[in-house]
Amino acid sequence: MLGLMQDWPLLCHGIIDHAAIQHGNREVVTRSIEGPIHRTNYRDVRIRALKVAKRLDREGVKLGDRVATLAWNTWRHLETWYGITGIGAIYHTINPRLFPEQISYIANHAEDRLMFLDTTFVPLMEKLQDRLPTIQRYVILTDAAHMPQTTLRNAVAYEDWIAEVDSDFAWASFDENTACGMCYTSGTTGNPKGVVYSHRSNVLHSMMALMPDAFDLSVQDTIMPVVPFFHANGWTIAFSAPMAGCRLILPGMKLDGASIYELLEGERVTMTAAVPTIWLMLLNHMETNNLKLSTLRRVLIGGSACPRAMIEKFEKNYGVTVAHAWGMTEMNPIGSICAIKPDYDAKDVEKILDVKAKQGAAPFTVEMKIVDDADKALPWDGKKFGRLKVKGVAVAKAYFKGEGGEILDENGFFDTGDVATIDPFGNLQITDRSKDVIKSGGEWISSIDLENLAVGHPKVMEAAVIGIRHPKWDERPLLIVIPKKGESPTREEILGYMDGKIAKWWMPDDVVFVTEIPHTATGKILKTALRDQFKDYTLPTAVAAE
Ligand code: ADP
Repeated sequence: MLGLMQDWPLLCHGIIDHAAIQHGNREVVTRSIEGPIHRTNYRDVRIRALKVAKRLDREGVKLGDRVATLAWNTWRHLETWYGITGIGAIYHTINPRLFPEQISYIANHAEDRLMFLDTTFVPLMEKLQDRLPTIQRYVILTDAAHMPQTTLRNAVAYEDWIAEVDSDFAWASFDENTACGMCYTSGTTGNPKGVVYSHRSNVLHSMMALMPDAFDLSVQDTIMPVVPFFHANGWTIAFSAPMAGCRLILPGMKLDGASIYELLEGERVTMTAAVPTIWLMLLNHMETNNLKLSTLRRVLIGGSACPRAMIEKFEKNYGVTVAHAWGMTEMNPIGSICAIKPDYDAKDVEKILDVKAKQGAAPFTVEMKIVDDADKALPWDGKKFGRLKVKGVAVAKAYFKGEGGEILDENGFFDTGDVATIDPFGNLQITDRSKDVIKSGGEWISSIDLENLAVGHPKVMEAAVIGIRHPKWDERPLLIVIPKKGESPTREEILGYMDGKIAKWWMPDDVVFVTEIPHTATGKILKTALRDQFKDYTLPTAVAAE
């Protein structure tokens, strides 16, 4: 017997309808690309999103068509997402930090029909447009006054383009499993692969994200997603914020410490989210200028492992709670968030910080397990590490156009490519990407653990660890360090600081100091480039062993 409840499809544009009705006056504030702070609200965002939908419809964009966005977080970008999804088309976010060849590869692979882009990306797209035959029009996210001279095909200023229609338009209706958004994985190896979110996965993920042990958002909150919309579905904040009815602050393109601090304080932000590199810049700015935070209560950190030292600074020096999360593009993107369960003694501050350095437990809607090489499930003892596999309502079951073939195992689990431990309380800790883990004498060493420990040293700005060939042990860790400005730590100082905090055989065999560590387009340390850079490096211990 089926239930006798209504069939109310979980559609993303239903979220902006709800926000406009229940939270219509709630502000959406942007540091615009043009410069000034721009203010609007959910009611007007919805009205303008309806115009986007109507105008796209007139353009001939149909259900299932892909529409690219190459843009920073702004109110206009937000409107395009709802306008695109409102006719059943698919927003395809493109990361502008990708190499131009990757951008043209993914725009062609997705067969994008139209592109919304910020003025800042016009020169880039002018160079690429000849290689992008499917894009019939470029809509520049600005007004006539700021419209640059451009050779882009059928280029038009966004404000002029939507002014051609009114907002008298009805959202399309379709099944909740209809494709809604698309984001390509960075693909550090091989070509990028397209992950296709559905309306249902976005809505359910956003509801999950609002839970108190996750984003913990209410109508009282002001959230600033510093994480760009183009990074792993913008962590769905474009949906969860209006769903909760909280104020939304969009930082545009200025993501340096000073600009972020100015918005956090000026706009009384209570919750924010980004990768660790952003917070490194903010913390440095606040330390250098002796600043405090007066309204921020919670910061969501993910995308790369958040060092314990960063969590400690936020919590002890600034009174801000850190929620450390793990996720990936293939998961909409959240897979786990660290919240302290009552099983721990909340008064044991140091222990709690140790736990917060883990990536936390899977929320409802995500199932996870760790397995050995024979695919046998490993115990949750916090020690055994294995390949992390996941399953859930917002986990990819295939890539766009079947790239990569079958990606689920026979039990429907997706192999994340991460190696992790899970402790008896269900807290996941990422050891490494499986290809970055260091294999020393048949055992594994976590490069992430070593990096996080090294950045706790007061003279270290950033650290990366890679495995270097070793005649006796197969691989041994090399620690690569960027010192803080004005500091020149020695190898012995850093190794002395690490000594006793990790197993003896985990200690790096050498330390090198550099001025730069390469990063991927999503801000992760680019280990492949580092391995290349140090491929001829000989460890002092290797010479001794020979
Ligand atoms: P990319 O396009 O750079 O692959 P993703 O966001 O999809 O972007 O990357 C997902 C990967 O990032 C995960 O599989 C994991 O290796 C890493 N990651 C994400 N969050 C964390 C975290 N909190 N700690 C450690 N690694 C993380």
